[in-house]
Amino acid sequence: MIELKHITKLYGNFKALDDINLSIKDGEIFGIVGQSGAGKSTLIRCVNMLEPPTSGEVIIDGKDMTKLSKAQLREERKKIGMIFQHFNLLSNRTVAGNVAFPLELSHVPKAEQAKRINEILELVGLTEYRNKYPSQLSGGQKQRVGIARAIVSNPSVLLSDEATSALDPETVKSILQLLKDINKKMGITIIMITHQMEVIKEIAEQVAVIEKGKIIEQGSVVDLFTNP
Ligand code: ADP
Ligand code: ADP
Repeated sequence: MIELKHITKLYGNFKALDDINLSIKDGEIFGIVGQSGAGKSTLIRCVNMLEPPTSGEVIIDGKDMTKLSKAQLREERKKIGMIFQHFNLLSNRTVAGNVAFPLELSHVPKAEQAKRINEILELVGLTEYRNKYPSQLSGGQKQRVGIARAIVSNPSVLLSDEATSALDPETVKSILQLLKDINKKMGITIIMITHQMEVIKEIAEQVAVIEKGKIIEQGSVVDLFTNP
């Protein structure tokens, strides 16, 4: 369970987030949709504390992320993977090398790393590409690497920051299908921000609509997007 309680974020005098309250169940795919500048990136970055909120609580599995020490936060962040619009891959590392990165950071033994990497590359369909470099991959393949890297440590939450926004419609479909599969297989909670309403309709069960730093509507996708 992830609960955001009264989250406010100020940049100087500018209120990027204004009293955000959200509750996200384990295993759910939760969409947050809004126009550019609405505060989506800021909000999703509050969940893993890349942007600490100015006030409010971020409660993950009963722990308030805003109250943790640096060392505790480092531990808790291992439960949270993240994927990005522009993939953020390391260009000087191969596919396998990119996926290995978080495992190296947490000093996972080499043999176990190899096993995990093989499993995850199989899951995202990139086994044959393990020795390629990012520059040799299509956008969809790069995002598969991003997803593999984000989930290789078995996190319980995956944050997606406009992860399909740089991809063509066919590739968007295949990436959304992969995310659905991962959600089912691993039971991972997915929080997805996007400006693309179609993406939310395709994948999310619950949705919140954000405008100028405020949640203006929320509920199930079926309720919100089905015309009476
Ligand atoms: P979105 O992801 O919905 O496009 P953002 O969360 O990136 O929106 O930004 C929300 C608002 O906060 C925008 O007006 C943006 O310019 C502003 N903003 C974001 N980050 C910063 C920052 N580090 N400093 C100042 N203003 C920021
Ligand atoms: P994205 O929407 O892909 O996150 P942005 O260009 O909105 O990309 O933001 C990139 C980075 O710049 C983020 O870290 C964001 O917090 C920061 N940023 C966005 N708007 C502003 C702003 N007005 N002033 C300072 N930093 C900003």
